[in-house]
Amino acid sequence: MKKLYVMLLFGVGLTLFFFCGGNKKMITSKAPLEYVKNETKKLAPVELKIDLTQLPESELKTLQILKQAASYIDSLFLIQVYSKNMAIANELANSNNPEDKYYYDLFKIMFGPWNRIDSDKPFINNIPKPEGANFYPEDMTKEEFLNFVKQNPDKKELFENTFTVIRRENRKLKALYYHEEWPNYVHKIHDLLIQAANTTKDSTLKDYLLKRAKAFLTDDYFESDMAWMDLNGDLEIVIGPYEVYEDKLFSYKAAYEAFLCVVDKEESKKLEKITSYLKDMEKNLPIPDKYKNFERGFSSPIKVVNEVFSAGDTKAGVQTTAFNLPNDERVRKAKGSKKVMLKNIAEAKFEKCWIPIVNKILAPEALKNISFEAYFTHTLLHEISHGLGPGFIKKDNKETTVSKELKETYPTIEECKADVLGIYNVHFLTEKGFYDKEFEKEAYYSYLGGMLRSIRFGIGEAHGGGVAIQFNFLRENGAFIIDKNGKLNLVLDKMYPSIKKLANILLTIQATGDYEKAKKLIEKYSKITPELQKFIDQLKDVPIDIKPIFPKI
Ligand code: ZN
Repeated sequence: MKKLYVMLLFGVGLTLFFFCGGNKKMITSKAPLEYVKNETKKLAPVELKIDLTQLPESELKTLQILKQAASYIDSLFLIQVYSKNMAIANELANSNNPEDKYYYDLFKIMFGPWNRIDSDKPFINNIPKPEGANFYPEDMTKEEFLNFVKQNPDKKELFENTFTVIRRENRKLKALYYHEEWPNYVHKIHDLLIQAANTTKDSTLKDYLLKRAKAFLTDDYFESDMAWMDLNGDLEIVIGPYEVYEDKLFSYKAAYEAFLCVVDKEESKKLEKITSYLKDMEKNLPIPDKYKNFERGFSSPIKVVNEVFSAGDTKAGVQTTAFNLPNDERVRKAKGSKKVMLKNIAEAKFEKCWIPIVNKILAPEALKNISFEAYFTHTLLHEISHGLGPGFIKKDNKETTVSKELKETYPTIEECKADVLGIYNVHFLTEKGFYDKEFEKEAYYSYLGGMLRSIRFGIGEAHGGGVAIQFNFLRENGAFIIDKNGKLNLVLDKMYPSIKKLANILLTIQATGDYEKAKKLIEKYSKITPELQKFIDQLKDVPIDIKPIFPKI
């Protein structure tokens, strides 16, 4: 089983490598074995839950073909990360040293010799990760690139293109499209996508796959991105180059990734009902009517799916629970964007990372009232709540936007708002009879328990910073207590009023674009108090994320 996985993951690359006849030793030093074992343990292995029995035979077959295509995405991403990755993988896979198995395991998770969950610390060959990954020559500086573009304005567009790599030839820089740099891989993927298109009975998927197959050979993804927005069958498939985070030099170049998912029909139906309340939710916001935003189009659909397989960029390190694509602004303008939530990934994280946390920090009575459903509902309502409240605003009689006015404080305030409104709207939907009182209670307890999960990764990042505001604000308002055993418990009747109060503060800051107030709120509440630190200290041994074991298909 393991062998097969290795072959699928690195098979094509290895063939190429042998062809090049490399016998040179790639690995010159290694981090202590203990470190590698400990880091691997921080990602808890978990079998992803998914029911494929309802899926028509044709779509199951389509998934199988797409899984082969996605395995080539794994190889492509591995090469994109580092020019020597294939050679290192080869050496680890064929090593006679039993210890190397552990290094190889972590290498496969991280897609290279740098630990993505420990600030890219190297665990093989003690060298820093190239900032430009394998998108640029390793010895190229930022300056050299900028100078070249300045001196060759006609090449600027090609050099900054999302889908080109920069190489050096006779000491001169040149740009190549992905399909020119990696023709073998993209042709294999192209052929498999065509095969999948001819297998599926879903006409929207067929359209997307055909257009996407062509895109792999041209590196023009516009038409296929447009087609992706229209998918409406059983499968939700993403395959191609998307995010630019791997390019830390310029954030120009997109990394290959794939999500193969099945739509969760039951959850989608619930979602449809919730979104029919969007206007009422806006009306119900705890701010004066003049601040409410009824102009915002609700053009961003949300889909709930279960993941069958993922590959490349998204599989490396920490797992994605939700994504919002495409990134192409032209598509966003024409059709908006689509938010996809991965329910079985969320469930796996809930079991392996969330439950162990609440077991340590919540009082026994509180523990009785938590549930995955309540936790997931809050996550959904968080996403929906990003679409509520002020967007375009007027300040000093000028048209402007919340994000422009709040500047660097915006991400923290916006994430905090989405969390707070997420729980505020559970109450609203309960009043509407959509949830029962018992569920509302579960939502409050689950929300309280979940706070520590975000804060433990630090308050520098917007989500963690936003949750610290909530924790300290709710504490100050008596919405929860710390009992004599040092465990957290809710003061149920104080919860909703405190949430409403915080929602009012956040929305007013946004509606008035008040940068100074935003800064003050963050300074006052977004901090790790000694009390909070004590809780964080208890979580050292809890896995920080999961390592998915994909279902057999
Ligand atoms: Zn958010």
